[in-house]
Amino acid sequence: MSLNLTYKNVNKIFGEQSKNPVHALNDVSFTIEPGELFCLLGPSGCGKTTLLRSTAGLESISSGQILYGDKDMTLIPPFRRNIGMVFQSFALYPHMNIFENVAYGLRVRKTPDEEVRKRVTEVMELVGLTEELKRNPSPTGLSGGQQQRVAIARALVYDPDILLLDEPLANLDAKLRRYMRAEIRRIQKATNITTIFVTHDQEEAMAIGDRLAVLRKGVVEQIGSSNELYTKPNNAFVSNFIGKMNFFNARLTGEHQATIDTTSTRVDIKPQNVRLPLQTTINPGQAVLVGARPEQIEIQAQHSPGLIKGEVQIIQHLGQFVRYEVVIDQAISDVPMEIDMPYMLEGVREHDAVFVSVKEGLPFLFLPEVRN
Ligand code: ADP
Ligand code: MG
Repeated sequence: MSLNLTYKNVNKIFGEQSKNPVHALNDVSFTIEPGELFCLLGPSGCGKTTLLRSTAGLESISSGQILYGDKDMTLIPPFRRNIGMVFQSFALYPHMNIFENVAYGLRVRKTPDEEVRKRVTEVMELVGLTEELKRNPSPTGLSGGQQQRVAIARALVYDPDILLLDEPLANLDAKLRRYMRAEIRRIQKATNITTIFVTHDQEEAMAIGDRLAVLRKGVVEQIGSSNELYTKPNNAFVSNFIGKMNFFNARLTGEHQATIDTTSTRVDIKPQNVRLPLQTTINPGQAVLVGARPEQIEIQAQHSPGLIKGEVQIIQHLGQFVRYEVVIDQAISDVPMEIDMPYMLEGVREHDAVFVSVKEGLPFLFLPEVRN
């Protein structure tokens, strides 16, 4: 039976009594469903590892509750929690063969030898290491990907209630990392153990998770499926963390109208995807951000009214589309626009002038704030 995992108003403050306390988890509340593969995503230092270590009982929380199913685990020590953990640095024992590495959690639980053999064989089959188990080398005789599989087998062998994976693919090369995403999903779905997968890589989180939570400075900014976060981000930060978002500084000029208004340019845009915090109203004249994904912007070589002038920095042909990096007036955007065109623009080279327009209807409207 898989368990749900619930966080209720969890706070973790490191150095509470010190001069510089760090509020690593700030009122975190959410529930992970039984058997769910849940991704925790956020930039380095946002509190991902702290949340995992708190879940395992390796870190005591400052306030709040953590529940496995209906059972309050907040004060239960780690060795009574039946947690499986996998780390970025596989943390295998080099002096033991892979059989004993995987068997370790069963040995501490005083499992009979015959049962140990059966379980290790089964779990090694699940992670695709049957052949390696026959040779039974030390982990140092395996590739990085195989070592990671041993680490996963070791965490699964005693049938944990919860599986916690902290950036487990970060040490693998790019191609293997992509392959292991699907493997981790397959293994997790086969065992149906409630799982948290931590990563700072949005593509990885979107590919692996049933749902994901975006964490920033200890605060859960949004929870949802990849598609929900991509199409309905709660704010500018989430929108630019889940996929790329370009931002234009603008001013609200009507109910569904924002205007980019500088000395050189005046353009009205009608964002349909208004993403404001609940109970927020904004008034005409107020500063806003218009957001547009790379495929929601177009460029052309000729000027016509209502376009924003820019200069191409870099052109990259990426197969299905061509990516243009375009610098526009700093007052509108202080970072270059990333614009994906379905074709190469005739006669436009790097350092040429181009004219930018936002596609009708599609763009987002956000409150101005820190964007990353
Ligand atoms: P992430 O895993 O998302 O990179 P962490 O959970 O490791 O982030 O860290 C969150 C914040 O808590 C960071 O500011 C980090 O410096 C701080 N932190 C983590 N562990 C400790 C500790 N043992 N003592 C003091 N500060 C810590
Ligand atoms: Mg970490």
